[in-house]
Amino acid sequence: IIIFFYTQRNYKRLLMLEKKHIGQSTQSIWGGEQEHELYERSTQVPVVHSVSFAYKDIDTWHKVALGEAEGHIYSRNTNPTVRAFEDKVKELEGAEAATSFSSGMAAISNTLATFLKPGDRIVSIKDSYGGTNVIFNEFLPPLNIDVSLCETGNYEQIESEIAKGCKVLYLETPTNPTIKITDIKRLSVAAKKVGALVVVDNTFATPINQSPLALGADITLHSASKYLGGHADALGGVICGNKDLVKKVYHYREINGATLAPMDAYNLLRGMKTLKLRVERQNESAMLIATFLENHPLVDQVNYPGLESHPAHEIAKEQMNGGYGGMLSFSVKGGLDSIKKFIPKLKYAHMAANLGCVETVVGPPLTTSHVECSAEERKAAGIPEGLVRYSTGIEDVADLIADLEQAFKEIS
Ligand code: PLP
Repeated sequence: IIIFFYTQRNYKRLLMLEKKHIGQSTQSIWGGEQEHELYERSTQVPVVHSVSFAYKDIDTWHKVALGEAEGHIYSRNTNPTVRAFEDKVKELEGAEAATSFSSGMAAISNTLATFLKPGDRIVSIKDSYGGTNVIFNEFLPPLNIDVSLCETGNYEQIESEIAKGCKVLYLETPTNPTIKITDIKRLSVAAKKVGALVVVDNTFATPINQSPLALGADITLHSASKYLGGHADALGGVICGNKDLVKKVYHYREINGATLAPMDAYNLLRGMKTLKLRVERQNESAMLIATFLENHPLVDQVNYPGLESHPAHEIAKEQMNGGYGGMLSFSVKGGLDSIKKFIPKLKYAHMAANLGCVETVVGPPLTTSHVECSAEERKAAGIPEGLVRYSTGIEDVADLIADLEQAFKEIS
């Protein structure tokens, strides 16, 4: 037993020392999983459904409860399966700490609720995910929190709003569904000057394609329901950052109770083992599909940061790790009427409100990212009614392109 513990500990130390040299595929597989072999020597992290954890003496129980010894007390706070998921994401994001939530929206709302108090100010961009925009427009103002939403890509405006003073700078890049890019490094510098916290939604990029913490962000967060899990069978959210910041958000979440369920944590953990493989495939396929669409006569505009025609291609090239993600959007000639005919003709795509999974998923913002917004709000956000959001799956790309081709023929 002593040798076993010694080996485990040394392996962990080696992981710490060699962190820079450990590849993302290795992190996807081994991250967060070392100590869980201790459960009856299983090779896979078990799903621990237990609500509470029992102790044989009060002193040990007390120490664990105070956080002075390793262990779990109650699954609303921490749980072994959930912890393994958090540790895996933490390694991939190169963070000190991570904590998880029942959904991506819980990650966002708990983080904002932790750091914003009445009288504070938050600066963000107009193109954030629809649910996030509802928080900005509907939930924060009645709490006397000033929200300044700037034009995505208008750095003069964003920097001047930051300079007026703010508690949080909140970014999402690439955005859902307009696939706009924001320069994290540049705006983090501006935010640091006024002591603001920088929070970045990294859902679309994934930790494989973008590392916001290395670019100057304080907190990076995900809807784990998307690429991290990758199989559209588990809802979850996660944030990563330094220990102090994550502890504060964890404290809010443990009391607020938006806890990730152990079964969902297991599904997310299992999905994450193939994160790098999936994302690399989706990067390659999305690039080919975007190029095909850009040359199609029925397409008005393609939004994909890997295309040289994307207005922020150079920033994406600089801040992303070489891949541009599996998400793209495009507007079809003829607007809403056209896409109502076009989308249902696709054979290899779910018409659904999800994204980031192994299957291709297609939908208009009207029924997906911006379902919560009115037609006027979508128009104000620069979202054409004929926009198609396309989440590239891992099918053979030739089949996906042929599928798009036949669907276009049906409407031409
Ligand atoms: N952030 C982004 C970029 C999203 O696309 C979504 C959902 O689509 C969320 C956050 C919210 O995540 P969840 O649906 O897991 O609450």
